[in-house]
Amino acid sequence: MKIVSGIPASYGIAIGPAFVFGHEELIIETNSITDPEAELQRFKLAREATGKQLDQAFLVTKKECGIEAAEIFNAQKMMLEDPELVGAVKNRVESELINVESALLETSEIFASQLEAIDDEYLSARALDIRDVTSRCLRNLLGNFDSPASSLTEPAIIVADDLTPSDTVLLDKSYVLGFCTAKGGSTSHTAILARGLGIPAVVGAGEGISEIQPDDSLVVDGDAGEVVINPDEDQLTAFRGRQKKFLKIQAEAEAITHQPAITIDGHQVEVVANIGNEDGIEPALEAGAEGVGLLRSEFLFLERNNLPSEEEQYRSYKSIADAFGEKPVILRSLDVGGDKDIPYIDMSPEDNPFLGVRAIRLCLERPELFKPQLRAALRAGYGNNLKLMFPMVASVDDVLNVQSVLEQCRTELREEGQDLAEEMDVGIMIEIPSAAILADQLADVVDFFSIGTNDLSQYTMAADRTNAKVATLASGFQPAVFRLIKMVIDAAHQKGKWVGLCGEMAGEILAIPILLGLGLDEFSMNPPAIPFAKRLIRSISMEHARQVAETALDLKSDGEIREYIQKAVPEVNLS
Ligand code: PEP
Ligand code: MG
Repeated sequence: MKIVSGIPASYGIAIGPAFVFGHEELIIETNSITDPEAELQRFKLAREATGKQLDQAFLVTKKECGIEAAEIFNAQKMMLEDPELVGAVKNRVESELINVESALLETSEIFASQLEAIDDEYLSARALDIRDVTSRCLRNLLGNFDSPASSLTEPAIIVADDLTPSDTVLLDKSYVLGFCTAKGGSTSHTAILARGLGIPAVVGAGEGISEIQPDDSLVVDGDAGEVVINPDEDQLTAFRGRQKKFLKIQAEAEAITHQPAITIDGHQVEVVANIGNEDGIEPALEAGAEGVGLLRSEFLFLERNNLPSEEEQYRSYKSIADAFGEKPVILRSLDVGGDKDIPYIDMSPEDNPFLGVRAIRLCLERPELFKPQLRAALRAGYGNNLKLMFPMVASVDDVLNVQSVLEQCRTELREEGQDLAEEMDVGIMIEIPSAAILADQLADVVDFFSIGTNDLSQYTMAADRTNAKVATLASGFQPAVFRLIKMVIDAAHQKGKWVGLCGEMAGEILAIPILLGLGLDEFSMNPPAIPFAKRLIRSISMEHARQVAETALDLKSDGEIREYIQKAVPEVNLS
């Protein structure tokens, strides 16, 4: 028996034999050619064939695993048609007179390595997508369509270094009991897919899983983030018991997910979704979201080559806000710079980008970026419940500055005779410690707060959120972060303002009782976490949550707090 630890990516316990997913390397040689035009015609045909396969993969995945997992194939299609990539391949074929396979492989590898180098988990995970779509196109060029997926013919746990979207679309999902991968983080393709399928998964488990042999007996503990290799009979019996418990809880959670989140003593909070664009609407509504607590507008700006126009932004924001009807949708203004780079926006390199010209700091410097977005938001909010939120606020002056640009946009739109939301609520993210400290002053100038614990913990603890070595420090469970959260909620409530939380922590089952007890009004999370959050809130009392929060605030470490919650609130244990 051996236990390997990784990142818990999808709840639940899977038990079964290992199916070791090995990649067969494509051998690509560099050959000289004499007719570049014919070579480029082959490239065009292969791209067309790849495009059709990706459309098919999109449809299959949407049906089997939901839109979020399927969207990856649309993104891949755009990558393969990226004029920069296609142009670079064309140049190489024409100037170096080499075969298109070799030109494509080398060029896409340069693109993938550039993405991988970006200090952002989501974007570096997209490097895998470039490699995947390249490999699919190369297979079309070579006429080689073998995949290890076809040999999965019995229920098993998929073990891989990392799974590509193309691998997984070919897997017969009725045989997939669970996933464990050596690489990847919580936004890797395997993690997204597993959550979409509702299958337990552990990702980023490292070298330890390389020793797993085909048919080894495995347990994937998606709650603890552990993989147990060849467990003994007693352990298996214990895991079977936990699996049964999890399945019961999951069914209970799904059954109540369209009910309100009310504690047993009658305290109601809002449970809403974090989404990136229109594709997030359906999964959020299906999961029982009571609105959108964070619409990360930067998704509309990523994976494209030019700035979306005001009109395009207007249509996108409006279709999301309209889809939620009277339910609130909180649009966050562009949060780029720092770790999120947009190639077509010219940003000067910085030594400390997380502490640099990020989010509203960039927007305030670039009215040509900021104003079309604010105008689009004001127009889109006409006749629905769209709200606006600004990220990375550090001071009252920041709020006054963004509000002055917003007011200019309002005046312009009025003068143009356009319909606009005159009474739109405006809030800010509290994700910089200075904003938490000044919460009482900030509450005077905004309508609401949403606490961004992903950043608040990294800035409070001086621990980079993308650096796995300091992950325990960059955690919302650090006592210092909990104290800041309490300060913010108390300050806002004293001024009659409501407070949400849209960092990952809002959906973490262990954090929910404390946040509830501190008086948080709105919990915004990834849609798959919603049923579990609602079930938990509906099964405890506010009185108990308050006591738990009070005790937790006196504890001295992340570990002590987590341990305490598990004991004090047994409902948090899902298996
Ligand atoms: C946060 O910082 O907690 C947050 C929700 O924003 P993002 O993760 O997009 O920085
Ligand atoms: Mg943030």
